[in-house]
Amino acid sequence: MPELTMDKLVALCKNRGFIFPGSELYGGMANSWDYGPLGVELKNNIKALWWKTFVQERLDMVGIDAALIMNPKVWEASGHLATFTDPLVECRECHERYRADQIDLARPCAKCGNKGTFTEPASFNLMMKTWIGPKEDATAVAYFRPETAQAMFVDFPQVLNASRKRVPFGVAQMGKAFRNEITPGNFIFRQREFEQMEIEFFIHPSEWEKWFAFWRGEMQRWLGLCGIDAARVHDLEVPDGERAHYSKRTIDLEFDFPFGLKELYGLAYRTDFDLSNHAKFSGREKDVTYTDPISGEKYVPHVIEPTFGVDRTLLAMLVSCYDEEQAPTTGEGGETDTRVVFHFPKTLAPIKVAILPLSKKDELTSVARPLAERLAKRWRVEYDETQSIGKRYRRQDEIGTPYCVTVDFDTLNDSAVTVRDRDSMKQERVKLDELEGYLKNQF
Ligand code: ATP
Repeated sequence: MPELTMDKLVALCKNRGFIFPGSELYGGMANSWDYGPLGVELKNNIKALWWKTFVQERLDMVGIDAALIMNPKVWEASGHLATFTDPLVECRECHERYRADQIDLARPCAKCGNKGTFTEPASFNLMMKTWIGPKEDATAVAYFRPETAQAMFVDFPQVLNASRKRVPFGVAQMGKAFRNEITPGNFIFRQREFEQMEIEFFIHPSEWEKWFAFWRGEMQRWLGLCGIDAARVHDLEVPDGERAHYSKRTIDLEFDFPFGLKELYGLAYRTDFDLSNHAKFSGREKDVTYTDPISGEKYVPHVIEPTFGVDRTLLAMLVSCYDEEQAPTTGEGGETDTRVVFHFPKTLAPIKVAILPLSKKDELTSVARPLAERLAKRWRVEYDETQSIGKRYRRQDEIGTPYCVTVDFDTLNDSAVTVRDRDSMKQERVKLDELEGYLKNQF
């Protein structure tokens, strides 16, 4: 298969409506991306599956949806104000800025080619600052959350009280996070505004190894559900000195992207770092102390945190599910041509079913259109009556639609339609009144 380059993927995503360059009408805004009609479906499907898998299906999990802007003291307690920094260097000639840990400082500046011109690395805090209310002074400073995690710690006493859960249990949240990245790039891989899906799983400290191993397994299982190519995923044990300030053990799940092996997800043992610090900074130690109802033991729970980036999940899926195959054209002559296809897991595909009347004649569209409207009550459906049927099949392959349903002139006599499977390209005749049941069995 020809290699999938980022240029090819970015162009396809733009043309088909997965992901557009942000603010394009105004000449764009560097490294900002908008999810288009297909992208938003795919992203919503990923998030819905994640929520179902890790929250709804588990009796030991609950979810929250907290405010994006929290009390600034949260970020003092969490250590983000002091240590959520990257080392910044600047080229003295052209003033291009780089992350010192991502470039070779002995080499010339990638932008202007001048050598030995970098400033000394300075700590640059990644949090996005804003002011709450009309006064832009120090008392009004607040931050957009750089991770969703902290609300799960800050809300821990309230969740515990309201949900009556017992340790071990987890709290999950998904939503936007903001980081003033020095060098965003590689399409949606590193953005300043992105989405996370995070779990804080509260445990007794003596059980951390067991739960760490458990969540490692669950993360592997999730990769399979998303159709992410396991051969491209590699675990990296993050060594001492390189872990985030709160972590005693971290494994990064790295993915082999077209631009290199980079972090997809992380799994961290955050100990009681966050809860204990919030206890200290809020002065409410009592509230984060858990009392075991059986043994009576009082302790601050420890935490295992599996963290998933939504955008990186989507990017890894696009890369994993993309294929270019030689396939027969729709003609009878036995010729082949190249079809581009996304083999998304069927339940995650942005469009589930395409309804394609063979011709634009009223006899066919008067059957096909109501059929599309009926199926749309259950699945995301696309209705398309333009171009040759072969071209329409190829278009649906290219956006990963698992089923194409063709209404043809025989339909008027046998009340049946042709259902084409995206992966096998096999076609089957299915009775109109059995179609919904047939499709239900596939998803
Ligand atoms: P990196 O080393 O790539 O900067 P990180 O270790 O800082 O990532 P975490 O703080 O562990 O990332 O964030 C959790 C998850 O959020 C990451 O595994 C990734 O999937 C996602 N993520 C982090 N930063 C970004 C970003 N700038 N753009 C898109 N997704 C991100």
